[in-house]
Amino acid sequence: MNEKDCIFCKIITGEIPSEKIYEDDWSLAFLDINPVNTGHALVIPKDHFENIYTTPDETLARLSLVTKKVAVAIKNAVDAEGITISMNNEPAGGQVIFHTHFHVVPRFEKDGLKLWPQRKYNDGEISATAEKIREELKD
Ligand code: 5GP
Ligand code: ZN
Repeated sequence: MNEKDCIFCKIITGEIPSEKIYEDDWSLAFLDINPVNTGHALVIPKDHFENIYTTPDETLARLSLVTKKVAVAIKNAVDAEGITISMNNEPAGGQVIFHTHFHVVPRFEKDGLKLWPQRKYNDGEISATAEKIREELKD
């Protein structure tokens, strides 16, 4: 999906209406139209980047600071007992809108949300996997 067809770019320009909660020169936060819990927000850069891989480091770093600011405000506003922050990347990662965004989800002890099922590693799998990742991280 390119910028022209991007729903979040249209939210930035106001072409698609949204409930904006924070805005500065380069970032925007607005409420998700289909919330997990009331107050669920999305934090986005105003420049169009598809996902974490293509978002410049500085943009991501600044976006995390805005996300923190928004998370604290949401927590106070809806009396949340916790906050889950997540980012989906690529369809297999659950991404539906291909404009970089953090989800800020207010949480409650009894909201019943189960984030993901977990399992045990097979024998030797954890160390072999860690080794492969360490190799990738070598420069
Ligand atoms: P993703 O799965 O890409 O991480 O999440 C995209 C999110 O955008 C979804 O939670 C969805 O509810 C939200 N969303 C999709 N279209 C709109 C829209 O037009 N307005 C708002 N406010 N949120 C949207
Ligand atoms: Zn966009």
